[in-house]
Amino acid sequence: MPKTVPDLREFIEGVRERNPGQEEFVQAVEDVARDIIPFVADNSRYHEAEILRRIAEPDRIVSFRVCWEDDKRNVRVERGWRVQNNNAVGPYKGGLRFSGSVTESVLKFLAFEQTFKNSLTGLPMGGAKGGSNFNPKGKSDREVMRFCQSFMSELYRHIGPDTDVPAGDIGVGAREIGYMFGQYKKLTGRWEGVLTGKASEYGGSNLRTEATGYGVVYFLREMLEAADEELDGKSAVISGSGNVALHAAEKLIAEGAKVLTLSDSDGFIHDPDGLDEEKLEWVKGLKLERRGRISEYCEQFSGADYHEGKAPWGVGCDIALPCATQNELDKQAAKNLIGNQVKAVVEGANMPSTTEASDAFREAGILFGPAKAANAGGVAVSGLEMSQNSGRVSWERDKLDGMLTELMQDIHRKCVEDGRNDEGAIDYVRGANIAGFRKVADAMLAFGVV
Ligand code: NDP
Repeated sequence: MPKTVPDLREFIEGVRERNPGQEEFVQAVEDVARDIIPFVADNSRYHEAEILRRIAEPDRIVSFRVCWEDDKRNVRVERGWRVQNNNAVGPYKGGLRFSGSVTESVLKFLAFEQTFKNSLTGLPMGGAKGGSNFNPKGKSDREVMRFCQSFMSELYRHIGPDTDVPAGDIGVGAREIGYMFGQYKKLTGRWEGVLTGKASEYGGSNLRTEATGYGVVYFLREMLEAADEELDGKSAVISGSGNVALHAAEKLIAEGAKVLTLSDSDGFIHDPDGLDEEKLEWVKGLKLERRGRISEYCEQFSGADYHEGKAPWGVGCDIALPCATQNELDKQAAKNLIGNQVKAVVEGANMPSTTEASDAFREAGILFGPAKAANAGGVAVSGLEMSQNSGRVSWERDKLDGMLTELMQDIHRKCVEDGRNDEGAIDYVRGANIAGFRKVADAMLAFGVV
């Protein structure tokens, strides 16, 4: 007798029971299951092999103690994790996040999402994520170095260029990757491409730093083109002022759009004249080098306002790019954007829209680019960094930019193919979920029940 397809509510209740208190993880699984359960109903081979249920159970989770000594000689104890979600289509791949808000639930949701995202790139990469509740903010360089070395002293046992290749994420940039790579090399005696996001002097890829933000804008450009619109002259609201936000802003400015806002975890700045290249360079120095606060922008540039404790979603715009963190854009924020006639919302951060906000955009027929498709440019160039490392070559920036553009166009095409509904409209969320799922599912079917 054919196996019956589970109903969504029943499926999610099961996930909730097996993962108590892990709200972010349950949310991420539900957002995918809503599109995949109807899809597997028409594809019995997937639901008979319980593929979705299996992808929603990480292959393994490694959790470990990380001890380090601060500058005052106090012994500090944090927790580290690596969630290896699924390696059906390639070695585990996904970033490391260092932030006080990191929990196992957050890393499980990120590793789950990463599995679909990496599949969408078409490159051979499985899904993983890791990190620690260590907060690098306010720590000295030496403290960050000691923490990274201690973290890698355990993590190195679980990773390798053909096993699992971590990268950066929130709180983990070139400095942290450098310290971790140095420790890995010391412990193993091997120079190998075990981390991506490295500096160019020791095997990093050109364009990796810019890739996520640029890729978001390339994906947005494709979405606008498919809707007979263009970027030139459009106004844009961006949240965040980290790696993704600033490189998305840079590319938008280069494409003739007007960037009105940036934010950090304390508030947002609104510059009605728009940021230009010079202002953006100053913000890069402030946030990426001096590690300052975005409020300082208003002391430097007159005409801009600072809104403490607020997110920028009430500012009228054509385009909104949430590029800070998960669940930063809720239903009310979505209503404000829709009320202000926003044309496109594209996710630079992972799961920045709550389920209700994402539903509101889909129902209103706004062009809505989900994270797993729109921000895949970073991991795609990380995949190209792995290829360069194993081939002992280094490709030029222009070549990589061409490859990134094509990759984002290809992801857009896949979303359109699987996301077009009977009325001809494109549901990018559904398209990304189905296209990302299918490749992983087919590989898992080939392996049998293991
Ligand atoms: P960064 O650490 O460089 O920047 C994060 C930015 O978000 C900072 O401006 C930070 O402000 C702000 N932020 C963090 N937490 C909050 C919060 N709770 N509320 C409001 N703002 C907050 O990280 P990235 O730019 O690398 O990553 C941003 C997002 O993009 C994350 O969701 C990440 O997973 C995702 N992403 C990143 C990729 C990459 O290549 N880097 C690839 C794909 C996705 P503050 O300075 O106050 O901390």
